[in-house]
Amino acid sequence: MVNQVKLTGIVLSATPVGEYDKRLVILTGQRGKITAFAKGARRPSSRFAAGSRPFSFGEFSLYQGREAYNVVEMDIQNYFDDISMDMDAVYFGFYFLEVADYYSHENVDSREMIQLLYQSLRALANESIPNKLVRYIFELKTFYINGEYPDVFSCAHCGNKDGLKGFDVQKSGAVCRECEGLSKEMIELNTSTFYTMQYIVSSPIPKLYSFTVTEVVLKELAMVMGRWRSKYIDKEFKSLEFLDQKLIFKS
Ligand SMILES: [Zn+2]
Repeated sequence: MVNQVKLTGIVLSATPVGEYDKRLVILTGQRGKITAFAKGARRPSSRFAAGSRPFSFGEFSLYQGREAYNVVEMDIQNYFDDISMDMDAVYFGFYFLEVADYYSHENVDSREMIQLLYQSLRALANESIPNKLVRYIFELKTFYINGEYPDVFSCAHCGNKDGLKGFDVQKSGAVCRECEGLSKEMIELNTSTFYTMQYIVSSPIPKLYSFTVTEVVLKELAMVMGRWRSKYIDKEFKSLEFLDQKLIFKS
């Protein structure tokens, strides 16, 4: 059929429409973020019931209508059920979906973003990497993919690559020992935090989740990413509010 396409994608959100249908927002590699209707998906017996939920990853055969797509077939390869068992991981996962939604658009190639999302959701299920670290890696790499990443390799004032001492959000980059006085607001960072950020920026996506860090590095990443987020993202993420509240309750 002329108007039928098969796309690899992940369901970012699913909302009920009418009595039995669902409206899905799917991030696809080739066509970016699209809207597709899954007819009858709310009936328990529907063959679209299981896949019409956030996190469902696989191949979607779609009929392209004038306004939106209609799901013809779904071949789900991963439901990410392992993260839905763990409430913490679920909140982080929903946050990743919201961020992906924020940064993606229709008809814009999103292959890197979908790859990052997939690997990050898998990393949430991996117990040997702390969820908080997964979050900062995901955030920094997302900024990188979208061209809004800080220069973590050289001093924003003089270009020096050695003796990096801190990070200046205003200047969008690192600051060296000699230029410390030029930055009004510098977050002092350990060398290992610099290495971590350099690794995240320069590594291919499949290699991102191959390390862990100390508590100190985790705290410094939290500071840098927090400031960076408020500089570049002017949206309040619902999942992030839950996540922050939960973290407060815990501590
Ligand atoms: Zn300098």
